Amino acid sequence: MDSKDYLFHTVYGRKLITGLVETTPTPYIVVTMRELWHILKDELGGDELAYVHFAESLELNRLEELVRSLPKASSVIGVGGGRAMDIAKFIAWRRNMPLFQVPTITSTNAAFTHRCAVRIKGVVRYIGWAVPEVIYVDYDIVRSAPPHLNYAGVGDVFCIHTALYDWKLATERGEEKLWPWDEELAAETRKVLQSVRGKTHEIHKVSDVGIKTLMEAHRWTGASYHNSGWNPRHIEGCEHFFFYTLEYLTGKAFIHGEPVCLGIVFMSLLQNNDPEGIWRSIEEVGVRIRPEDMGVTWINVVTALKEIRKYAEENRLFYTTVNERDITDNMVEIVREHLYGSK
Ligand SMILES: [Zn+2]
Repeated sequence: MDSKDYLFHTVYGRKLITGLVETTPTPYIVVTMRELWHILKDELGGDELAYVHFAESLELNRLEELVRSLPKASSVIGVGGGRAMDIAKFIAWRRNMPLFQVPTITSTNAAFTHRCAVRIKGVVRYIGWAVPEVIYVDYDIVRSAPPHLNYAGVGDVFCIHTALYDWKLATERGEEKLWPWDEELAAETRKVLQSVRGKTHEIHKVSDVGIKTLMEAHRWTGASYHNSGWNPRHIEGCEHFFFYTLEYLTGKAFIHGEPVCLGIVFMSLLQNNDPEGIWRSIEEVGVRIRPEDMGVTWINVVTALKEIRKYAEENRLFYTTVNERDITDNMVEIVREHLYGSK
């Protein structure tokens, strides 16, 4: 896993949309978000445009319908957040067309993953195969997004902190047969985590360095799922399971990284795994982790914590800390004080 050869070709700079029309085979299909089209249409809305699709549903049957209805084209350009990236990948995969991706926020690693996160009756499934020609990261476009969306991107990197603990624990307990602990992969993953923890102030400022640091981490984690043999253990653990439980119980739509970071806060404490250190990193970035910022209540959070083992077992999720330890009332109180101060 030392070689960088398997990572997607990524270019950082400015005014990168301008060059796209001279780069991509025409006519092209653009997948973007409605709210971005006014800044794109002068550059991409000319005669070379075959069709523009505004990203909405990720339901598989809706996507199949979309692919059937698309006009003939020679390439696909995705511009936007995770949803636009996923739909662009889906079209490129189904139509076997070259793909150019322009992620406009750092909130997700969707531009850097091989598969598309589609929904089948609301349940997420990762399917497909798309390797973009290139991914363009335009500093000025990313910086113009709401800061909290960019901050949330650290969730899928900081989760390495709690995921590695779970992975080692599961291996020690004899509960991980498919992907036993791999020190080499763990060491490389830790380096990625450290690269982001070392630049939290730049990420908070959404500076060029901050954007590049976080995107490079996404670039590595996104590809590593496939490149480690579809092994999720180093990038997902009980912090994600907390989020799945909360989502299941409340039915709310979340900004992924926010509940994941709240999960990291609780689970690092449960693991006795340097909670103060990782809490500080989350705080330095400025991720919103209070329940009310996510549209849920403190009671919802506590209920999710109590239900997480049952959820994990019922859904046959892999073995983590929550299989053998309970979040105590004392831990809940410690986190509450940390978020709101003592009364
Ligand atoms: Zn995630």
